[in-house]
Amino acid sequence: MFPRAGLLLLGLVLIAVSRVAGLVLPASTRYLVDDVIGKSRTDLLRPLLLAVVAATLVQAVSSFTLTQLLSKEAQRLIAEMRRRVQVHVGRLSVAYYDANKTGALVNRIMTDVEGVRNLVGTGLVEFVGGLLSASVALTLMLRISPAMTLVTLGSVSLFAAVLYRAMGTLRPIFRERGQIYGEVAGRLTESLGGVRVVKGYHAEAREADVFAGGVARLLANIMKTLTATSVMGLASTVLLGVVGAAVMYVGARQILAGQLTLGGFFTYTLLLGFLVAPLFQIVSIGTQLTEALAGLERTREVLREAPEDADPRRTQVLGRIEGDVVYDDVRFSYEAGKPVLNGVSFRAAPGTVTALVGPSGAGKSTITGLLAAFHVPSEGRVLVDGVDLATVRLETYRTQLGVVLQETFLFDGSIRENVAFSRPDATPEQVLAACRLARVDEFAESFPDGYETIVGERGVKLSGGQRQRVSIARAVLADPRILILDEATSSLDSESEALIQEGLSHLMRGRTTVVIAHRLSTIRRADQILVVEGGRIVESGDHATLFERRGRYFEMYTKQHGLEANLFLAPGEGGKEPQENEASATADEPAEGPLDLLRPRG
Ligand code: ADP
Repeated sequence: MFPRAGLLLLGLVLIAVSRVAGLVLPASTRYLVDDVIGKSRTDLLRPLLLAVVAATLVQAVSSFTLTQLLSKEAQRLIAEMRRRVQVHVGRLSVAYYDANKTGALVNRIMTDVEGVRNLVGTGLVEFVGGLLSASVALTLMLRISPAMTLVTLGSVSLFAAVLYRAMGTLRPIFRERGQIYGEVAGRLTESLGGVRVVKGYHAEAREADVFAGGVARLLANIMKTLTATSVMGLASTVLLGVVGAAVMYVGARQILAGQLTLGGFFTYTLLLGFLVAPLFQIVSIGTQLTEALAGLERTREVLREAPEDADPRRTQVLGRIEGDVVYDDVRFSYEAGKPVLNGVSFRAAPGTVTALVGPSGAGKSTITGLLAAFHVPSEGRVLVDGVDLATVRLETYRTQLGVVLQETFLFDGSIRENVAFSRPDATPEQVLAACRLARVDEFAESFPDGYETIVGERGVKLSGGQRQRVSIARAVLADPRILILDEATSSLDSESEALIQEGLSHLMRGRTTVVIAHRLSTIRRADQILVVEGGRIVESGDHATLFERRGRYFEMYTKQHGLEANLFLAPGEGGKEPQENEASATADEPAEGPLDLLRPRG
């Protein structure tokens, strides 16, 4: 991720050429004043002018080429870095995303890398070029008058020291600015994304307050740097005055003593500009450079985060799996000292449906998160076909995994693109077949644009049930061996409900499914129900067994539905079987609402 070396070298040569050419004009002043005018050597005027014109041309061409070369190289680098950072961020673990705001990450990828432009492009040119002209100017000045140069150097070094200190102070402030910016942008992204909730709870004013607070912090930070840069400006003005006065004093005395020519003095004052100007430039671009370095440091920080598949233990390459899932005394905590799973053990045989039920916060999502290999158990193992998931090459596993979450994640693309997201290389026929199975066809084909209908950001233009069907179609198309399902808790109209159930039963067929179940129909159809509480499995068995046991499952169930419903739904209660039966949900069958076993009790 460095600029191409050859190009940089060429850039440096060009800087040198352009700066040296730029010094021809001031250097020639001495000959103009002392020789052409002072000694009436008019024959020297022509060559002198020619030299100046030629030097100007060389300077113009070389600085043009330089800007072209370096600014384009800088932009190429920015593009390359953005690409690399994005790829890297994509490989980081879910835990990293939990700990970092989306907006801040966007910032790292898009804005922080821009610093390269200042480093490689204009900033570098100014800096190196300035140093170069300064040193050439210094050599020439020494030849003209060592005494004046000594005085000048003394003041300039003092100034440089002040500058160096100031930069040291500014740098952490710039670093902080990037952080504040990321946080403010992050919150903004969230509140814009959650506009319905914000408006729904009439929280616009509160969000505005939060944002205003962030903006104020940003302002305070910028104010600090502005003061520092103004102080530097002040110091440089003072420096110029002091140096000017000193040079006038020493120069006048030297001329009067015959130690210095008038031309020498003029040339010296012009060269002085070349020595001091880079320092001023460093003041202005120095802040840019400091900001750029701070941004690049943040970028480097992200790049140093270890990707989730970097673990050296991840060596096992999975072939096509059967989907035999075993949890072997799994313990897990997100934060040290706060265990979330306290020894979870169960087996899900290939092709079976396992329903997780229990109050919210019990650890159900955490159990499925471990199956998705989003996290690694702190103790115990999750085995798939006998292989510890912590040792598996993630790409060989995740391609065989399907995830359908409550919050369906749709892009602002067409229905077809959203379905094909899971398998971009699928043929149109395959996509269509998946849409049929998930009953997406039923609504998509009624739209004027059919499958090409654009769904809007996060799928806002579709109904909740339609979004779910799209995400089911996506999973059908992926054809995973293991399926993780987080059933929606929201109630849907009975028709959508029935269509979703139908899609889901197609989807689950022949796959090992672990479902965070909210719906009675799903729970009753599951091969095993695991009742999760406080990070443990407190009961397991199928609906009939658990019901007869009259334990936690029964208790939770009766709390939710009352004794009547309970009797009504109790298995084998004479002819009073519930509406639902083994023939499974079909479109014309009344659907069942969510069974909120998840709600916290009390
Ligand atoms: P459920 O799915 O049963 O509602 P979860 O698995 O989501 O339960 O949560 C179990 C516990 O873990 C809760 O106490 C929750 O606060 C905690 N938890 C969940 N996700 C995180 C996270 N990313 N960081 C820290 N704690 C978490």
